[in-house]
Amino acid sequence: MTQGTKMNRGQRPELMWGLGLSEAQQAQIKQAVGPGFFLRNFPEGKLPWSRELSHTEKPSATWIPMKVWKDISDNRKETYRRIESTQRILIQDEMDETMEMEDVLEQGFLTIVTSPLTRSKVQDAVFRAKEVSSMYSDIYRMTEEIMLERELLSRKTDQLLFLNNILTGCTESLDASVILANAKEHLNMLIPVFELHAVFWQRQFENGLTDVELFLDSKAPAEKEDEWTRMLLGCAERMGGGKINGFQSMHIDPVFRPGNANQDQARVVSMPLQAANATYGSLVLSVDKQARMGKDEVETFKAAANHLGLALRNALMFKEVKLRADHDALTRIYNRHTFDERLVHELKRRQRYGHDLSLLMVDLDHFKEVNDTYGHQAGDMVLREIGAILYSAIRSTDLAARYGGEEFVVLLPHTTEKDAHMLAERIRKRVADTNFTFNGKQFTITASIGVASVETGSLNKEQDLVLKADEALYQAKNNGRNMVVISRQCPKEQQVPQ
Ligand code: GH3
Ligand code: MG
Ligand code: MG
Repeated sequence: MTQGTKMNRGQRPELMWGLGLSEAQQAQIKQAVGPGFFLRNFPEGKLPWSRELSHTEKPSATWIPMKVWKDISDNRKETYRRIESTQRILIQDEMDETMEMEDVLEQGFLTIVTSPLTRSKVQDAVFRAKEVSSMYSDIYRMTEEIMLERELLSRKTDQLLFLNNILTGCTESLDASVILANAKEHLNMLIPVFELHAVFWQRQFENGLTDVELFLDSKAPAEKEDEWTRMLLGCAERMGGGKINGFQSMHIDPVFRPGNANQDQARVVSMPLQAANATYGSLVLSVDKQARMGKDEVETFKAAANHLGLALRNALMFKEVKLRADHDALTRIYNRHTFDERLVHELKRRQRYGHDLSLLMVDLDHFKEVNDTYGHQAGDMVLREIGAILYSAIRSTDLAARYGGEEFVVLLPHTTEKDAHMLAERIRKRVADTNFTFNGKQFTITASIGVASVETGSLNKEQDLVLKADEALYQAKNNGRNMVVISRQCPKEQQVPQ
């Protein structure tokens, strides 16, 4: 080989630029470097702008005669100097004044080559340019890699932070509503969440029917709540695999929100909740439809779903256990323990605020006969039904409980003796009007009710109110049953001294 670098087949020649090179200079350079290089010369009047230099082509070296360089404006010189993708080589003619190497470097040149451009001078300069360029590109690549690592690290940090928040939000409470409200807030870190609803189902083994519990985001107009309810029930039916027996719903956030302003931008995403390899519920989110999650974010989302799944399962189990502890297993209304606690609480409140407080004591008449005639199971069915009658007759601030056996109590805060009497009459009538059927046999039952009230201002020990109601009940039994007696109507000597 007599000429410069040899070129292999299929290899593209490497690009060099000349800025205002003379024909002779072009020829000398081309001859020195051989076919491995392509020299693109810009005539003096048409020098490229930095934009072209840095983005379209990346020549390894740019040749500039000193004469041309001198004529370029300072502004433009500065622009060329700032381009890092090419190495500039200055060509000094015999006619040019000599330039100190220091100045050459100062002006951003890699080196200076004096005319005539011999092969060894050109090759040496090109070799150095290539070396520096490759060094630069290595540094670029490394910098880029470092930036990428940093970006990944920061994303990982965000994801860890998110998971940490989700976990904290999950373990902060054993109340499903609180966990769900926290989840909504934290999921927002990954994707804008407009609404979050949840549905849980429990399949009953005896009949294959499914009981469903719904958590709606916040209070909303009826038609909107209906729409979500339908969607959530559909979800439970599809995923829970059983016909829905009944459902109860509550709001995660009791605030009323008239409507989602972002309705058009929303898409619905469901997130199954699992524990012990079984899907027992689902979160249903309304999220920004523009937002897209990366693969790693989807993974993080799934991890969040796992945590939420376990936490919500625990919350539901806790609720169930608490329900069992507070409620009577047969009638599903509160038990005596809960009543005793509430009574103390209500008496304290009454002492502070001086409001009315009444109590009903309900005892079924000749209940033993129901057991004796129709069997114990029939008796149980009656007790369950009485529980339901009491529950449906009271307000949410009242409390109905099974006091023991076939005796029930109803605690009525903010209720006068007169109103308590009216309610007792209503209950008595409903019990008497109810037709019970067991094993094809129909029967009815009656109840006696004692009513006691704490008059405004008077102080009572908690037992006094119960005793008074009990005495009134005793009186009702004595007077022939199926009746309501108010404690005040009892004979004086039976009253407990205040
Ligand atoms: P009275 O009108 O005087 O109240 O008569 P009674 O038969 O209702 O009263 P008594 O106290 O003599 O009998 C109460 C019965 O309630 C006796 C008991 O077997 C029954 N009983 C108590 N708890 C349960 C229960 O959980 N299930 C059933 N089936 N029966 C119960
Ligand atoms: Mg009794
Ligand atoms: Mg009885």
